[in-house]
Parts: sequence; structure tokens; C-alpha cells
Amino acid sequence: MPQDTIAKELIELLRNSREQAKFLGELGVENVALDSSTDQNAVAPAAITSTAPTAARVAPSANPQPALQAPRRKTNPASPSPANSLFGEFAMTAPALAKSNETLEQIWLDIGDCTRCGLCEGRTQVVHTHGNRNARLMFVGEAPGADEDAQGKPFVGRAGQLLTKMIEAMGMKREDVIIGNVNRCRPPGNRQPTLEEAAICRPFLFREIAAIQPEVIVVMGNTALRNLLEEREGISRVRGKFRDFRGIKVMPTFHPAYLLRDPSKKRETWEDLKMVRDYLDQTI
Ligand code: SF4
Repeated sequence: MPQDTIAKELIELLRNSREQAKFLGELGVENVALDSSTDQNAVAPAAITSTAPTAARVAPSANPQPALQAPRRKTNPASPSPANSLFGEFAMTAPALAKSNETLEQIWLDIGDCTRCGLCEGRTQVVHTHGNRNARLMFVGEAPGADEDAQGKPFVGRAGQLLTKMIEAMGMKREDVIIGNVNRCRPPGNRQPTLEEAAICRPFLFREIAAIQPEVIVVMGNTALRNLLEEREGISRVRGKFRDFRGIKVMPTFHPAYLLRDPSKKRETWEDLKMVRDYLDQTI
């Protein structure tokens, strides 16, 4: 290989390493190797900061992405929805998530200028799931905020910028994943959607999940946790352990907006994301 090509590649490698180290620093995990010396899941510093594993982990999003389309998990039609009364009359009824041939456009056409719940009254526009439709990894949050309502895309405000850094710290690009919310319209005052509002809107998300068939879903915060898993406990008690959503692996973790309010939770979030990254690495 010509020397100038090698030099260019080394410069690019250094630049990428610096960028990723910066992301990790902003996540508060710059000393992760020292702090996790007794953690069997700890990743060596080189594995965190080098771009080499990253390139092997995720195919460039401009390509057909063999890594992103690599081995699909087996669906588990027998996987039951957890039985509990958290949602009462709004509890889920479908026990399994069958593979769907619907396109996202068909689902969005069905949603239309939706007025199915009261959140339609305060919104500027409906904010649909956005990202790579062949993604192995999906992130699900609560509902759009002011920036998302204005721009029509999920996670574009400050919390979204932090989410992008979290994704990049995992060695991926934002274009490699797909991101959505339980509710598609901005709740007034950014309040939490009610059980009824969430129960009315979430079937659209479930249809998208059935169409996309991600291998892992990261649910961020209590609203996403409760609406995918019908989990009674709060996120801080159940985060960090893989769960099942109708045959799809789910990792509960903190919502980026919460991390902006309490940065001390970034380290735990990073531990959760490392588990997701390692699982995806092992199943390529
Ligand atoms: S939040 Fe969902 S169900 Fe409610 S109006 Fe918006 S799109 Fe329709």
C-alpha cells in the first residue's frame, strides 16, 4: 500500500478515535477501563476507543449492510405478553408479534392526520419512527418534545443529541439504527402520556416493529418500558437486564432526557448499552 495512503488511513483512524473518546467522555465513561477492572463484561480500552472493532461491527449505512441484515433472531410466537393488571382495560391482547410485510409508508398512511387521542390537539405534526429500516437495533422513547414537534423527527433536541452520542459510543452511526416513540404527538407541557393515550398510539409502533424486525430494542424511560413490557417496576429497578418483547430482546435503560437532568446515571446507561453492543457483536 502506498505510504501516503497509509498515512491518510492513520490520520482518519486517529480522528475517529478522538471523536469516539470525546463521546465517551461526554457520557462520563472516560475511566471505564479503570473502574470496571472487576467487571467480567468490561471492555478493554482499545476495544472502546479503537475504530477497528466498530468497522467490523456495523456495515456502512450506504451499503446493503450485510451486518445489519445478518442473522435474524427466531420469532417466538409462543412468547406470552406478561399478565398483569398495570394497564387494566388498556392491557395488550396480542400474545406474539408476527412478521409483517407492511411498509412504514402503509402504516403512516393509516395513521394519517390522526385524531384518535387528545394529543392531536396540541401538536404541530405527527412524528413518525425514523431511521434505518433494516436496522438490527431500535430505540424507543416516550413522545416528541418541542424540537421534534417542530421538525417532524424523533430525538432531534438536546436529548436526541445525547442519544446520537450514545449510539456513536457504541461504535455505530445514527443512520444505522431506527428510533421511535410510544406516542407520536407532543403532549402539552411535555407531560407523560396517559395510559389511554399510550394504549391508543402504541399499536402503530408495534406494527412498525413487526415490519422492521429489529434484533434488539432499547426502551428508554418508564413510558417505553411500561408500554412494551407492561412492567410495573420503574426503569431504575429493571434496567441492565435483557427482557423479551414478543420474541425480541429488549434492554431497558434511562431516557436521554433523564440523563440530562441526572448525569450520574450515564455510567449505568453505558453499561446497558455495552451489553447491547456485545450481544449484537456476538450474533453477527
Ligand atoms: S399520539 Fe398517536 S394516537 Fe394520539 S393523535 Fe397522535 S398519532 Fe394519533
